[in-house]
Amino acid sequence: MAQNYYQKEIETMSREEMRKLQSEKLVKQVKHVYENVPYYRNLMEEKGVTPADIQSIDDLHKLPFLSKADLRDAYPYGLLAKPLADCVRIQSTSGTTGRRVVAFYTQNDINLWEDCCARAIMAAGGTNEDVCQVAYGYGLFTGGPGLNGGSHKVGCLTLPMSSGNTERQIQFMMDLNATILCCTPSYAAYIGETLKEQGYTPDQIPLKAGIFGAEPWTEEMRRGIEASLGIKAYDIYGLTETTGPGVAFECSEQTGMHVNEDHFFAEIIDPDTGEVLPEGSKGELVFTSLDKEAFPLLRYRTRDICVLSREKCSCGRTLIKMAKPMGRTDDMLIIRGVNVFPSQIETVLLNEGYQPNYQIVVDRVRNNDTFEVNVEMSPDQFTDKVSEILTMEKSLANAMKAMLGINPAVHLVAPKTIARSEGKAVRVIDKRKLI
Ligand code: ADP
Ligand code: ZN
Repeated sequence: MAQNYYQKEIETMSREEMRKLQSEKLVKQVKHVYENVPYYRNLMEEKGVTPADIQSIDDLHKLPFLSKADLRDAYPYGLLAKPLADCVRIQSTSGTTGRRVVAFYTQNDINLWEDCCARAIMAAGGTNEDVCQVAYGYGLFTGGPGLNGGSHKVGCLTLPMSSGNTERQIQFMMDLNATILCCTPSYAAYIGETLKEQGYTPDQIPLKAGIFGAEPWTEEMRRGIEASLGIKAYDIYGLTETTGPGVAFECSEQTGMHVNEDHFFAEIIDPDTGEVLPEGSKGELVFTSLDKEAFPLLRYRTRDICVLSREKCSCGRTLIKMAKPMGRTDDMLIIRGVNVFPSQIETVLLNEGYQPNYQIVVDRVRNNDTFEVNVEMSPDQFTDKVSEILTMEKSLANAMKAMLGINPAVHLVAPKTIARSEGKAVRVIDKRKLI
């Protein structure tokens, strides 16, 4: 397949040139952060590092890490490196235990983010002839705005559908001949099934490519989506802390995602010791924003387990590749695209007067995530009146919805019916087999 590049010079740059570019950007970035983010300056001082110690990308390992806990401590403005007057946007994710991650963008930050998404769309074969249907959520979630911006940059006719309302998605897709679909893989699979139910065969569907990410998905799922929609399905990775989708994107080879390493430098570390591991090792993925202005996280620990590779890619891009994330170092679940920590459930239970005896059951039925929480009543809460139980379940489900942003099915069960384990409690039963 002939290759389309959005920024060919960068995407196919020699390794030496790329390191030079990264080094120049890093030296500047460290100064910027040191001077403007007291929170990070303190971390550097604790480690005995000054900007003068950072002369090239080879010195990156000297810098301290940032983690979700730092984002929580510094919420909301503590990691901001520009005056608010220079910022034009925030995006947010239902982040850490109870507290949101709020990321800030200057106009330049939005530009570079949209460039990254444009690279992803062109790597999937997109051109200005395409009609690009963006069915990621719009709003605080980064998916919709990111791909929307990338689609504009490529010059596609953009359909800013947002997620949901599948009937309307299908009507626009068919009537306006959408050729590229951007959404979560689970939503893509759902759209595929719905099209089939409506009697469409893959060759009647105008789509040629899909760009799917924001949650883990398997090769089987990829094959299923490709067959049902008659397309080639490409993976895309990102996180709100770095910008959003487009930190890494898949090319025609479909063997991992090219990291936009002129903006985001990737490292793999041992999650226990923090030591940087050699290329090809499995470990925790860490990103450094080399040129973001407003929210430039240095050495941010993603908690995603991953492997990096510099093997030559048939698409001609020289950008380093990351494998599909292979799990997480924490217990975060991604349910219907929303980040959920068991500790959030526990907090709600304690607030609502329940004991923390619960079990979360997640499954994927017809490509939709199901989310159940079984909660034990304590002996004094116990009742066998169905109407009382229903009222209690409803009120608990509402409290969880308020905390998490998504609705679980809550089931109250009799005291001492959730199996006790002898070691670590089994809080989560994830039947989805995503990895
Ligand atoms: P976003 O808003 O971009 O989804 P979040 O900050 O809510 O970002 O979530 C980011 C997390 O989502 C990542 O750390 C990773 O665990 C997961 N994720 C994003 N894209 C992918 C992908 N393509 N494959 C697997 N996991 C992904
Ligand atoms: Zn490639």
